Amino acid sequence: MTRQLAPDPKGLDAAATILRSGGLVAMPTETVYGLAANALNPVAVARIFEAKRRPSFDPLIVHLPSAEQAFALATSVPDAARRLAAAFWPGPLTLVLPRAAIIPDIVAAELPTVGLRVPAHPVARQLLERVGLPLAAPSANLFGFVSPTSAAHVLDGLDGRIDAVLDGGTCAHGLESTVVAFEEGRPIILRHGAITREQIAALCGAVGEGARVLERPLAPGQLARHYATRTPLRLFDRADQLPEPAATAALIVIAGSIPDAHRKGNLSTRALAPSGSLTEAAASLFAALREADASGASELRILTCDDSGLGRAINDRLRRAAVRA
Ligand code: AMP
Ligand code: MG
Repeated sequence: MTRQLAPDPKGLDAAATILRSGGLVAMPTETVYGLAANALNPVAVARIFEAKRRPSFDPLIVHLPSAEQAFALATSVPDAARRLAAAFWPGPLTLVLPRAAIIPDIVAAELPTVGLRVPAHPVARQLLERVGLPLAAPSANLFGFVSPTSAAHVLDGLDGRIDAVLDGGTCAHGLESTVVAFEEGRPIILRHGAITREQIAALCGAVGEGARVLERPLAPGQLARHYATRTPLRLFDRADQLPEPAATAALIVIAGSIPDAHRKGNLSTRALAPSGSLTEAAASLFAALREADASGASELRILTCDDSGLGRAINDRLRRAAVRA
């Protein structure tokens, strides 16, 4: 059984005790729920891969309470990384840096680098302070499926497979962190996320993208299929491309309202951000995918948003979710 812990001193103490003894605790972060283990204990980290059924070639992000503690786990830190950390930590940004010897191979999937992040969520921060260990934490879902933005989502996939979940309510951003590596000091975006390319470019100038920094895919950032729903999902860029409403279809509109011609006739319709705010759309994206997936529809239709700013990260998740195995 998986224990449900309240994010109060008693719950946090229980979570810290589980983590110190090599167990697994799902914790809320501002992006999605993370499945945490002591990053310095390879056996504990192996349990994450087992619980999630995550392939061992997929490296984990290590979470720390401060930039100073994060950079202590890297053997060198380019100026651009320091600038980004100063601007966006604590927050939804992961920096990939050459790893210190103390990081076990399994955390980094044998890569010479490690992904580091200082989260902003108060519950994640309190847990990190209390446990006094770096926490390796990928998203707290079965590998390849939609990421969890509530404790209930975590239990949907992992109940009985992990020791506990700290219930911190719904995640604010609802999209995973932006992952940035460096090539000769220049930032390269490996995965789009809550911090946009525009924000990174404003600080660092030229920004590379999707580059094959290494010789193999760095999933999920670079896996074609990820965030999968069980129900087939089709994407449409414009309202006039949507097929006729159908009693078996669930329609999700990312930004803006439901087109007039589609208000009736579908099994369900949902507009994530009628006002057009992509921040609002991102926050409810994964929950909406889960809900539509469970609605009994035989097809999910999604009207995507403009491919700029946060829209790039949203559409990236949708494209991967739409790829069928
Ligand atoms: P998750 O925590 O499940 O959202 O996924 C973590 C992702 O961060 C990985 O799948 C990679 O895309 C990225 N990542 C973590 N560590 C590294 C690393 N050392 N090098 C490159 N990418 C990394
Ligand atoms: Mg994930």
